Amino acid sequence: METILVLVHTEADGSLAKSAREALRAARTLNKAIAGSSLVVGLVGENVQSAANSISASPVMKYFGMTGADFGQSRYSTDAAAAEAICKAANATIVVAPATSRWARVLPGVAQRLGGRADTHVTGVSDADGKPSINRWYYRQRMEAVLTRTQRPWFMLIDPGSQTACDCGAGTATVEMVAVNLSDACKRTTVVGIREPKADQQTIRPDAKLLFVAGAGWTKKQSDGKTHTDDAAKIILEFLNKSKASLGGSKSVVDLSGEGQAVLPFMTHLNQIGQTGATPRHPKGLSTCCHGEEPHAVGWRFVSERRAVNLDPNCGWARGKADVLYVADAFEVMRKVNALLAGKK
Ligand SMILES: Cc1cc2nc3c(=O)[nH]c(=O)nc-3n(C[C@H](O)[C@H](O)[C@H](O)COP(=O)(O)OP(=O)(O)OC[C@H]3O[C@@H](n4cnc5c(N)ncnc54)[C@H](O)[C@@H]3O)c2cc1C
Repeated sequence: METILVLVHTEADGSLAKSAREALRAARTLNKAIAGSSLVVGLVGENVQSAANSISASPVMKYFGMTGADFGQSRYSTDAAAAEAICKAANATIVVAPATSRWARVLPGVAQRLGGRADTHVTGVSDADGKPSINRWYYRQRMEAVLTRTQRPWFMLIDPGSQTACDCGAGTATVEMVAVNLSDACKRTTVVGIREPKADQQTIRPDAKLLFVAGAGWTKKQSDGKTHTDDAAKIILEFLNKSKASLGGSKSVVDLSGEGQAVLPFMTHLNQIGQTGATPRHPKGLSTCCHGEEPHAVGWRFVSERRAVNLDPNCGWARGKADVLYVADAFEVMRKVNALLAGKK
């Protein structure tokens, strides 16, 4: 009989992130599919009561909690100890967890301690012939596999954005507290603060509805024989500020800085989309001044509706990679789009 444990950690304010609700939805899918299975939740954080309450309308049989100041921060030693103790207390055979950076670095190690197995980048769960199974992409999102395992406990790290978040309502949950002895050695590392770009400088927004990709064309000579990189930077930033889209780049545009050419100053290698870049999940994508070659377009695997603006009617996007291709000058198109957005306010 499978005991499915949803293992989540709270955010700094004690709430649950969307990715935690996505993991809960995936676990519930398995729970419904596997006859006789039970669904339990484990929460780690400084205080977990309000997080447990926020999902207590879900059909969860039991809640386990590991609380205290030691568990408010992300730290391998204490997070691993907490996860291990909750898995043991729950007798978990399947552990479903969001692949946050905090869990992704800890849970494979916990699986090792418990003699189990861990699968990362899980994008779907189901029951293949009555057995629990997971979906996972390989070879830079070109091939999708369905896997089953007999080893238990089986840890499934669900890729954020790959599931619909569970919308179960709030109530009052009874949380059974689990205790663990932490040695001083476990507490040597302390988080003293978080350094991150200011909100308006943060161009990578995983939850944005739109992915806006800027390609190398923005930095190339235009019809007047000159480059207009400063204009390009202004147009792109104005669009990002107004639309709150997430910014992606082609490999060519992010590599330009290394080649000493005039570049878009806010574009870094972290923005790169594609085979050697990221494969983000957004409902819509707009590519501009980017050719749409296969090593780039492969990063658009999970972008549902794709549009592109390119001067070249024979660019890669025209070859079945975009739903709509506007054969036009992206400088003109995006200036007009910015003006329309400004008029909306
Ligand atoms: C092993 C390997 C891995 C790779 N991995 C990646 C990867 O992860 N991501 C990635 O992006 N690439 C990757 N590449 C590189 C990829 O093949 C392309 O070279 C790259 O994507 C091209 O970038 P680009 O389209 O921005 O630039 P370009 O090929 O220079 O295209 C610029 C485009 O801008 C258009 N343009 C110019 N001015 C305008 C204008 N005013 N209005 C509209 N359009 C305009 C042009 O028509 C042209 O189509 C990889 C390549 C290899 C070999």
